[in-house]
Amino acid sequence: MDSEADLSIPSRSETPDSVETRSKRGLAARTTWAHTRPARDGEAEYLGNSQIKYCIHCTELSYGTSVTTNMRHHLMSKHQIRIETTPGSIQQATIDQLQRLYIKAESSGQTQQIDT
Ligand SMILES: [Zn+2]
Repeated sequence: MDSEADLSIPSRSETPDSVETRSKRGLAARTTWAHTRPARDGEAEYLGNSQIKYCIHCTELSYGTSVTTNMRHHLMSKHQIRIETTPGSIQQATIDQLQRLYIKAESSGQTQQIDT
């Protein structure tokens, strides 16, 4: 009984856990909706079948829409927030923000918590 051929070495999975197919459009949409919040009391939650999201930057007069493009235009025109549509610049923006936060923390003597 020579069944060495049966020895199966468990091969580690070569499949990455996250193979995201990121379309530019999808990424931009996600980034856009990051600037929104759900409807509050008294605000319309749906327009037809679409859920309305509200701008988190508007404080006095709330702005809500279910259309990504509209929200993007709103963020750009009212809050000077530019939603980048390329993954590269999103990451760069995140890195820039982290660096700014780090510098801020450093200046207030809180970097030890971050470094360790
Ligand atoms: Zn707004």
